[in-house]
Amino acid sequence: MTDSDPPRNPGPAQAAASAGSDRTPFVCVVGGGPAGLMAAEILSSAGLRVTVFDAMPSVGRKFLLAGRGGLNLTHSEARESFLGRYGTRRAQLEPMIEAFGPDALRDWARTLGVETFVGSSGRVFPVEMKAAPLLRAWLARLRAAGVRFEMRHRWRGWAPAGGATGSTQAQTADTSTQLDAAQRPRVQQLLFDSPEGRRVVQADAVVLALGGGSWAKLGSDGAWVPALRAAGAEVAELLPANCGFDIARPAAGGSGGELVPGWTPHFAERFRGQPLKSVSARVTTADGAVHERAGECLISETGIEGGLIYALSAPLRDTLIAQGAVTLHLDLAPGRSIERLAAELRRPRGSRSMSSHLHSQAGIKGVKAGLLRECLVKADFDDPERLAAAIKGLPLTIVATRPLDEAISSAGGVRFEALDRRLMLRARPGVFVAGEMLDWEAPTGGYLLTACFASGLAAGRGALHWLSARSLTPAAAGTASP
Ligand SMILES: Cc1cc2nc3c(=O)[nH]c(=O)nc-3n(C[C@H](O)[C@H](O)[C@H](O)COP(=O)(O)OP(=O)(O)OC[C@H]3O[C@@H](n4cnc5c(N)ncnc54)[C@H](O)[C@@H]3O)c2cc1C
Repeated sequence: MTDSDPPRNPGPAQAAASAGSDRTPFVCVVGGGPAGLMAAEILSSAGLRVTVFDAMPSVGRKFLLAGRGGLNLTHSEARESFLGRYGTRRAQLEPMIEAFGPDALRDWARTLGVETFVGSSGRVFPVEMKAAPLLRAWLARLRAAGVRFEMRHRWRGWAPAGGATGSTQAQTADTSTQLDAAQRPRVQQLLFDSPEGRRVVQADAVVLALGGGSWAKLGSDGAWVPALRAAGAEVAELLPANCGFDIARPAAGGSGGELVPGWTPHFAERFRGQPLKSVSARVTTADGAVHERAGECLISETGIEGGLIYALSAPLRDTLIAQGAVTLHLDLAPGRSIERLAAELRRPRGSRSMSSHLHSQAGIKGVKAGLLRECLVKADFDDPERLAAAIKGLPLTIVATRPLDEAISSAGGVRFEALDRRLMLRARPGVFVAGEMLDWEAPTGGYLLTACFASGLAAGRGALHWLSARSLTPAAAGTASP
């Protein structure tokens, strides 16, 4: 979008800030997604000089894409179940979400002229079901607060100590706390690839909000992982979350349990893209825990995807990693007991085809019937008990996740152990981390964006606190909102 294009000629004050001649505290936010923009808002509202750098020609591209699905901003469910969605990272995210949770997020959207509503599923959306109006209003407010935007700047890491080159002069690291704040050099020296070539930018503090590793064409490609590891930060491998999976099926006529990847060409041709409605799915993890969800999913070219599968993607993925393959059981008739189904299927079918028998007795038709034909052998259809059992628990062998790039979000990222409680990298004082690049995951339902906004706010406040402890903040710093 054009309104997020960078100013062609940064103003003199901004140029001076980058060059280090003006001692107004200068914070570099790298990554202009929801997390980075929220950090920029906090920092600018405290009177700091802030520039958002982004690799892309405009900010918020993934956020805009999320808007195509209606922009599920957050969820209205009760606090306990909401926090439970963050699984093993609940403890780390809880204080951030307490500080800026679903209600605060909705109030904040209202300050941008965006009203929200609770859908029938409890999910919260903007009334207009779009991201663009919110982003447009937000960017206008950030610009009015003095935030600058430098697009097409891809962060590459830190300039080597004392050896920086580029458009700004290198300065030595700030080891002298005896110096007046006004005399201290800017300690952060960031390397960027820009349209003008390699550039070094000096800042007093940095917020990294570089996103995860999916949908690389929107800017978040996970290429930051080696730079952070080289800086001494512990980073868990980025893995697909809320993703689809590939299946394998028994080889035709195979007796040794061999599997071949994907659906039969006939099934894929006929049913890919078709929704499997009102089903439930169950997976048992390596430690014996059973995860079951009801909902809707989709037949893909090579397997299965969609909301129901995304909701089970963490246990499916982790069991896959632990065991090499995992069985997903689909219940194609969740409203009927196995006994009732068997009794219905035992009824004489006379001259009717098996398809119409399945339809009339068990309500199974279309893609559900196709799936049974894909996965079962003739003997299964001839035995009502076996057929009922298959309808209630059709086993699908999952053999791979779809690639990270196709996933809705990423698991893995900067581990919380690498950070202090204000999201500052222990290995790089003055560098704060926010958003999807942190090591947490959550299902779809608005939990992703909520935690990105909340951690962006926490990182912004963390940077403020750190600067103020070094006497590098204006007096207003303590009153930063939202
Ligand atoms: C199709 C789709 C639909 C979604 N729908 C929803 C939804 O409805 N609700 C929900 O809660 N979540 C949704 N999400 C997830 C949500 O959009 C993300 O979790 C969220 O955008 C992450 O925010 P972030 O600020 O951490 O990172 P991002 O939004 O990914 O922003 C990171 C920014 O950093 C920039 N960047 C990356 N590397 C560099 C670098 N080296 N140098 C400079 N800049 C860099 C990128 O260009 C990007 O602008 C959806 C995701 C997808 C893919």
